[in-house]
Amino acid sequence: MRNIQVNGDRLWQSLMEMAKIGATAKGGVCRLALTDLDKEGRELFIAWCKDAGCSIRVDAMGNIFARRPGRNPDAAPVMTGSHLDTQPTGGKFDGVYGVLAGLEVVRTLNDLGYETEAPVEVVVWTNEEGSRFSPAMIGSGVYAGVFSLAQGLGTRDNVTGVTMGAELERIGFAGAEKCGGRKVAAYFEAHIEQGPILEAAEKPIGIVQGAQGQRWYEITVTGQEAHAGPTPMKRRKDALVGAARMIDAVNRIGHAHPPYACATVGFIQSSPNSRNTIPGRVFFTVDFRHPEDATLTEMDRELREACRDAARSAQVEVEVKEFWYFPPTPFDKDCVDAVKRAAAAQNYRAMDIISGAGHDAVYMARVAPTAMIFVPCADGISHNEIEDAKPEDLAMGCTVLINAMLERANAAQ
Ligand SMILES: [Zn+2]
Repeated sequence: MRNIQVNGDRLWQSLMEMAKIGATAKGGVCRLALTDLDKEGRELFIAWCKDAGCSIRVDAMGNIFARRPGRNPDAAPVMTGSHLDTQPTGGKFDGVYGVLAGLEVVRTLNDLGYETEAPVEVVVWTNEEGSRFSPAMIGSGVYAGVFSLAQGLGTRDNVTGVTMGAELERIGFAGAEKCGGRKVAAYFEAHIEQGPILEAAEKPIGIVQGAQGQRWYEITVTGQEAHAGPTPMKRRKDALVGAARMIDAVNRIGHAHPPYACATVGFIQSSPNSRNTIPGRVFFTVDFRHPEDATLTEMDRELREACRDAARSAQVEVEVKEFWYFPPTPFDKDCVDAVKRAAAAQNYRAMDIISGAGHDAVYMARVAPTAMIFVPCADGISHNEIEDAKPEDLAMGCTVLINAMLERANAAQ
C-alpha cells in the first residue's frame, strides 16, 4: 500500500491540546525541560500513545520511546520524533510537531490496520532546547554517544544549579532503559523550518539534505590606549578601528559564498570603553556556517587573511583563535530519497533545503541512517510566541513522513 494520507485535523487537534500545557498570554508556550509542565506534557503524550496501543520505555536520560510492534519483533525499529520542551518564549510547533506527527503516523497505521515489517517507534528527546540546561540536544547527544551519561545527568540548571539527573528523578522520568547502544533502522524527523525559505518559495515540503557545519572564533585585537586629544591620527594604534575593519570583512565573507554561507559577529567588548581614550584592546566573536566543509575552510582562510590585512592597516596586533568546530552533517542518501519519493508520490511541491539550526536528527545521523522533513512556518519566525504554521502544511509534512517511514519499515534489513 502506498500514498497513505494522515488525518490532518486530528494532528492539529493534538497540537492545540499539547499547546495548552505551558500556554502563555501571547499565544506561545513555555515548557522548559524537566519542569512540572514538561512532566505534564510527557504524561499526556504517553497517555495518547498507550491509547494507540504502544508500549512505552524510558531511558536513563528520560528519552521516551513509544513502540508500535511490527511483524518481525527482532527487526530494528524505524524511528521518528523530536522534542516537547520549548524556549521560555517558545511556540506551539517547534519540536512538538515532530513528536505529534509521529503519534499521527501510529494512529493512521492503526486506522488502516496496517502491519509493518519492522516496529515503528516515536521518540521524545530530553532537553533539545538547551535553554534551562546547556548545551542543547543533550538527550539525543547522550543517545548518540556525543556526551557520556554522566555528563548528561550532571548538566546543571543555568540559574539554580540543580542537575538534570536530580530533576529526572523528581519528575519520575529517570528511566531504567540504557541510553543508546540499540540499532535503529532509520530515523526521520519532521520539523518546522524556523526560517523563511520554504514560505518564500511557496513550497510546503523541504527535503532536508543535511545540517550546516559551524566554525566559531574568538578574536582579540591589541593596540595601545592613548589620550583622544593629544594623539595625532597617524600615530594611533586603535584596536577598535582594526576590529571594525575585520567585522566588515566577516560580513563580506558571508556575502561572498551565497546562498548558504552565514557569517555573524554577535559579541564585542572594547577596552577600556571610555569615550576619550583610544581603545587598546577589542575582543569579538565570529560564527561561520556552511553545509560544505571545503567552503568553511575557504571562509577560514579569508578570515585570517582579512584580519592580517586589517591589523596591518590599523597598526595593531591580532590573534584569531578557533573556539569550536562542528562538521557539516550530510543526511543518509537513501533516507533523503525516501522523503523525496514520498513527496513526489503525492505531487506535493517540494525543494531541497539545508538545516540552519541544530536538531536531534543531527546527532542521530551519527548512529542511524537519518533524514528530516521541513514544513514552512509563518514569516520564518520561531523561538517566539507568535510562531505559526498552517494545518494543511503540517498535514502534508506528516503524510510525507508516514510514506517515507513505511518505505523503510517494509524494506528488508
Ligand atoms: Zn526544535
